[in-house]
Amino acid sequence: MIKIDKKITKFRVDKPTDAAPPKTAEERKLEVIERNKDGSNVIQMHEKLERPECLVGSTYKIKTPVSDHAMYVTINDIVLNEGTEHEHRRPFEVFINSKNLDHFQWIVALTRIISAVFRKGGDVTFLVDELKAVFDPRGGYWQPGGKFMPSIIAELGYVIEKHLETIGLIKRPEMDEHRIKMIQEKRDDYVARNKQQDAFSRGHYPDGAQLCSKCSTAAVILMDGCRTCLNCGDSKCG
Ligand SMILES: [Zn+2]
Repeated sequence: MIKIDKKITKFRVDKPTDAAPPKTAEERKLEVIERNKDGSNVIQMHEKLERPECLVGSTYKIKTPVSDHAMYVTINDIVLNEGTEHEHRRPFEVFINSKNLDHFQWIVALTRIISAVFRKGGDVTFLVDELKAVFDPRGGYWQPGGKFMPSIIAELGYVIEKHLETIGLIKRPEMDEHRIKMIQEKRDDYVARNKQQDAFSRGHYPDGAQLCSKCSTAAVILMDGCRTCLNCGDSKCG
């Protein structure tokens, strides 16, 4: 404590000078490295990660029968630990572009939130299931190829899933040889029996095939009293 025994004749107010100077990108990067729990200097996805000037990405076109205009979904990725053995791609941001401005505010909100989740890091694959589970109360629509889309939002989920599969964040469940063979046999059998060769055009499923509850594709045929999906092989009788 300082005792003032002279008369105060002059004073000035100190401006706060202890505020830390803004951090450089490099300092922030170091902070992120420090924060990594495993003690390694591998950079993980983190919300404090600076956006690099340039990101790599993909744009997907969504054309639905419920809208006159196509939607373009761009997902940009950040490459972490480039050039090291820990190099991996993580989604960083998503943009949606459309001529249709009906749902503009919702689209903007959705893309901002999805981008924020991407940047938080951790497991972001749950987004796919959340979006795919959205049903349009007016009913969904059929994609060319016979896949049922419960809503445009769900289709966005499928797009993100496809993207995450491409960059290796989601593993596509592989069908074993036995199952692929079984589907092909059933298919051939069905064609032979129903003489419906024309029904299979360019990889599509026969007319009258029903919706598979497992893979949402109209590819379920009934043969010998047994329903079998020609797309994913789901069958009630083994
Ligand atoms: Zn199926």
